[in-house]
Amino acid sequence: MLGLMQDWSLLIHRIIDHAAIQHGSREIVSRGTEGMIRRSDYARTRRRALGIAQQLARDGIRLGDRVGTLAWNTDRHLELWYGITGIGAIYHTLNPRLFEDQIAWIVNHAGDRLIFLDLTFVGLVERLQERLPAVERFIIMTDPAHMPETSLRGAIDMESWLAMADGDMAWVDLPEQTAAGLCYTSGTTGNPKGVLYSHRSNVLHAMAVCTPDFLGLSSRDAVMPVVPLFHANGWSLAFSAPMTGAKLVLPGPKLDGPSLHGLLESEQVSLTAAVPTVWLGLLQHLDATGGGLSSLKRVVIGGSACPRAMTEAFETRYGVTVAHAWGMTEMSPLGSFCSLKPATDGLAGEALLDLKMKQGHPPFTVEMKITDDEGRRLPWDGRTFGRLKVRGPAVAGHYMNDDGGDILDGEGFFDTGDVATIDANGYMAITDRAKDVIKSGGEWISSIELENLAMGHPDVAEAAVIGIAHPKWDERPLLVIVPKPGRAPDHDDLMAFMTGRIAKWWLPDAVELVDAIPHTATGTIKKTALREMFRDYRFRV
Ligand code: AMP
Repeated sequence: MLGLMQDWSLLIHRIIDHAAIQHGSREIVSRGTEGMIRRSDYARTRRRALGIAQQLARDGIRLGDRVGTLAWNTDRHLELWYGITGIGAIYHTLNPRLFEDQIAWIVNHAGDRLIFLDLTFVGLVERLQERLPAVERFIIMTDPAHMPETSLRGAIDMESWLAMADGDMAWVDLPEQTAAGLCYTSGTTGNPKGVLYSHRSNVLHAMAVCTPDFLGLSSRDAVMPVVPLFHANGWSLAFSAPMTGAKLVLPGPKLDGPSLHGLLESEQVSLTAAVPTVWLGLLQHLDATGGGLSSLKRVVIGGSACPRAMTEAFETRYGVTVAHAWGMTEMSPLGSFCSLKPATDGLAGEALLDLKMKQGHPPFTVEMKITDDEGRRLPWDGRTFGRLKVRGPAVAGHYMNDDGGDILDGEGFFDTGDVATIDANGYMAITDRAKDVIKSGGEWISSIELENLAMGHPDVAEAAVIGIAHPKWDERPLLVIVPKPGRAPDHDDLMAFMTGRIAKWWLPDAVELVDAIPHTATGTIKKTALREMFRDYRFRV
């Protein structure tokens, strides 16, 4: 027997409808690429999104067509996401920090028909356009006054394009499983793969991450998503904030410490979110200027492991609660959040900080398990580490075009490629990427743990650990260090520092000093390039 409730499908446009009806005058503040601050609200955003939907339909964009965006976090980018999905087309965020060859490859693989781009990227796309034959038209996200001379095909400024819409438009009704968004994985191995979100997955994911143990958003919050919309579905903030009617503050292209601090203060932001590198810039600025954070209550840090010193600085110096989050493009993207369950009451000082270093527990809609290489489940004891696998309605089931084939195990779990522990309270802690873990004598050594430890040495600016082939142990760790200016820590010095803080057999076999460690476009250490640098390296025996 079926239930007799209404069939109200989970469509993205219902989010902006709700925001416009219930929170219509709640502000959306945006720093444009033109430099000025613009003020909008949810009612206006919905009206403009409907105009975008109408214009897209007039340009011949249909159900399932991909529309690329190469853009910072601004009001116009937000309006585009809702306008594009409102006619059943698919927003496809392009990461401008990728190499040009990769951007061209991704646009062609996705089959983008239109590309909306910020002023910042006109030069980049002019260089690329000959290699993007399927893109029919480029729309520049600015107004006539700031429109540059450009050779881009069919170029028009977005405001003139949108001015042609009369707003006589309704959202298209769709099955909730319809594709809505496309984001490619950063692809450290092989070609990037497309993750294709649906209306349903985005709505369910946003509802899950709004809950109090997760982002805990409300209409009283002022949310500043610093994490770009082009990173992993913008951490859902383009959906979760409007769903609750929170004020949105969009920082545009300026992500440096002083610019972010200015907006945090002038717009009285209560919650913000980004990767650790961004917060390093803010904390350095605050240290240098003696500035404070008068309204900020919570900072969400994820994308890579949040350093202990960063959590300490935010919490003890600035009174801001740090929430460590973990996720990935394939998970829409948030998978866990380190909020405090009652079972952790009583923890204080270093023990509490230890807990906050964990990546946290999943919301309803995300199930987790850890397994060994044979797929056998491992215990949740906080010590045993294994491959972290997840399933849920907002976790990828396939990649675009079925690239990579079958990606789920027999129980429907997706292998995250991360290695983790889970403790008895359900808190997950990442110990490594599966491909970076060092396999020594049948046991695993966490490269991340060694890196974090080495980073605590006063002479070390940056540290990376890779496995080097070893005749007896299979692999042993090599510690690669960028020293601080004028310093040269030696092997004995570093080993003395690390001894006693990790198992003895985890100590690196050698230390090499380098001028720089290679990074990926998203700022993480590029282990593939580092392994290449040390391809012929052999330990002295
Ligand atoms: P991406 O799909 O590009 O967002 O990358 C996802 C990967 O980033 C995850 O599989 C993790 O390896 C890493 N990651 C994300 N958040 C964290 C975190 N809080 N701590 C450690 N690693 C993280």
